[in-house]
Amino acid sequence: MEKPRVGISACLLGQNTRYDGRSKGAPELVAALTADVEWVPLCPETDAGLGVPRPPMDLYRQADGHIAAITPEGHDCTPQLDAWIAATIPTLRRNGLDGVVLKARSPSCAIGSAPLHEGGPGLVGHSSPVPQGAGAAALAGETAPTLFCDGLFAAALKRAMPKLPMAEDEDLRDVAQREQFLSRVRFRHHLRRERPKRLVILAFLLALLLALAFVLSNSTLSRHLLLCPVYYLSHGRMTCPGCGFTRGWQALLAGDWRGAAAYHPFAFRILPLLVPVAAGHALLCRWQRRRWPWSAWLWTALGAWLASWLLTLLL
Ligand code: SF4
Repeated sequence: MEKPRVGISACLLGQNTRYDGRSKGAPELVAALTADVEWVPLCPETDAGLGVPRPPMDLYRQADGHIAAITPEGHDCTPQLDAWIAATIPTLRRNGLDGVVLKARSPSCAIGSAPLHEGGPGLVGHSSPVPQGAGAAALAGETAPTLFCDGLFAAALKRAMPKLPMAEDEDLRDVAQREQFLSRVRFRHHLRRERPKRLVILAFLLALLLALAFVLSNSTLSRHLLLCPVYYLSHGRMTCPGCGFTRGWQALLAGDWRGAAAYHPFAFRILPLLVPVAAGHALLCRWQRRRWPWSAWLWTALGAWLASWLLTLLL
């Protein structure tokens, strides 16, 4: 069976892609997830052609607000990275991607933990000690930044695929967080695989509705085709109770709202109730931190329709 496709910073898989030619393998994390996912290794910096080894880089906010990845020598690697990102994200989307696990604190991969400096190398006058691994800023003798942001690749991925499950390697050391991430990945994978099936069902329902509207709006056809659920569900053994549902829709399709309400007093008046029912369902899903399934609309509409039909028969 096809596994969910999860992108991963290549250095976490043990590949020697880091600026110093080393890896930053996370064997425990990889071993814990390998049985459940298909890894898609990605290294923005190496794949963008920056080479291994390469000068380290850090993120600097420029005067115009944009964030640039700059080496200690002042070389701006942003255009090269941006070009790779622009070419890679559409391919990832096309091939299917159900989540990503990215390296913390990397100027390309980090999700909210990349140190952010102001200006450019040598422009920032810091005085406190430099953290290990702070890249260009560390080599330039600058201090620990107080601001953190997404790496360039992670930021672009968030913009392009806002619902993609994303996590840093360090977060997933925690078993509970790993399980939560995995369940979001599985859910997205399920939705991705089900998408063609859902489109076929939606197209079928649309065709059915159009056919129904055509039959109802054609008086000759609807006289010969008895559109009564009771009649059809009982295979003709029960006669149509004459609830006015068909005639109501016919009147509605002819633009006669009063006639429609007279034939079937509940069917159309109950429709506005769908809004609070749907809103309540959406709020419940949000509160329970789960997605609102599209089928909820279908069940809500079906429930309202059945309720209105029963009310008409009973009253
Ligand atoms: S760019 Fe990302 S994948 Fe490549 S070495 Fe840096 S952290 Fe690892």
